[in-house]
Amino acid sequence: MATDKPTRMTARRRVLLDELRRSRAHPTADEVYRRVRRRLPTISLGTVYRNLELLAATGAAQVLPSGEGPRRYDGDARPHVHIRCQSCGRVADVAGEPLVDWHAVAPPAGFSIFGYRLELIGVCPRCARRKRKRSPENNKEELPWQR
Ligand SMILES: [Zn+2]
Ligand SMILES: [Zn+2]
Repeated sequence: MATDKPTRMTARRRVLLDELRRSRAHPTADEVYRRVRRRLPTISLGTVYRNLELLAATGAAQVLPSGEGPRRYDGDARPHVHIRCQSCGRVADVAGEPLVDWHAVAPPAGFSIFGYRLELIGVCPRCARRKRKRSPENNKEELPWQR
């Protein structure tokens, strides 16, 4: 059975990390796969997924705390806060660190707290625009037979 030589794996992984770092969109494995195929035409989705997980496990990248939908990856491994659009699942970085005093919470008996993960939930500008267009007031104006 053919296996990848370690050097080749490393080169591939570097290309993957490079693609991941270029995007600020927190892509899914599928999205990274579609982008990276221009540079690595023979790579499989499975290999992309495995390598993304490896990059996250080694701390070079991070997996976003799971929300709805497929897992999303971030080429920026530094701790930072995300906002997720409730309509389309799009994720963006939030500047600054919201103040959460997790020292003030009382953990269940036997638990120790090391930190916290926080994700803000909202609506992205694209979905907000789409919603405005679809609102009944606007529809009345836009329907051609009502003009
Ligand atoms: Zn959205
Ligand atoms: Zn991020």
